[in-house]
Amino acid sequence: MVDTILVVEDEPDVVDLVRYHLHRAGFDVLTALSGPAGLATATESRPDAIVLDIMLPQMTGIEVCKALRNANATADIPILILTAKAEISDRIAGLELGVDDYITKPFSPRELVLRVQNLLRRLRAVRKSSVLRVDEFCVDKGNYEITVRGKRLDLTTTEFKLLAALVEHRGRTLSRETLLQDVWGYKSAIDTRTVDTHVRRLREKLGTAADRIVTMRGEGYRFLVHQHAV
Ligand code: CA
Repeated sequence: MVDTILVVEDEPDVVDLVRYHLHRAGFDVLTALSGPAGLATATESRPDAIVLDIMLPQMTGIEVCKALRNANATADIPILILTAKAEISDRIAGLELGVDDYITKPFSPRELVLRVQNLLRRLRAVRKSSVLRVDEFCVDKGNYEITVRGKRLDLTTTEFKLLAALVEHRGRTLSRETLLQDVWGYKSAIDTRTVDTHVRRLREKLGTAADRIVTMRGEGYRFLVHQHAV
């Protein structure tokens, strides 16, 4: 799956430059020109990483960062902040908020791309071996186990992979084609009804939590996140 990067920056020239280089490196790029717009896009689209400028109108990057970290839907999205060289206090504030990396302006776009790639690689390595908790769901990739409120679901390997993929990309719609590729490893979408059949079985096994898997008409499926703060 192509990784999506959200760039939050109010200077259009910088946005264009960063977008161009990230795009060329194979990323999908979303942009927002203000803090509130960035927050809205992050919540709606749950990008894989966020490049966040500190000097923003309306809301500073630090405030945006705080809001992202405090919301369940965005708390674990890696953030790379852009700072001016002199703003050491911002850098410290950012690190205190759990910013994953920072780069000082003026920066080389290539370095930025490398930093983003490293960030995602580091994160993948950690996530692969760890347990992911989302609301009452707990996904243990090492043991191929998913529990809901502490109760272990009796899943086939395919069902496990399907639910794990949905939970991992929670809040984002995954198309049937994407799921066939990620879960079944199919290169081309032969029969997307396979996905529907498995989702149906999965919902039966989820019982009262079945409504967490939402059908997005004409688009695919999405795992619903509770929007309340952690
Ligand atoms: Ca700026």
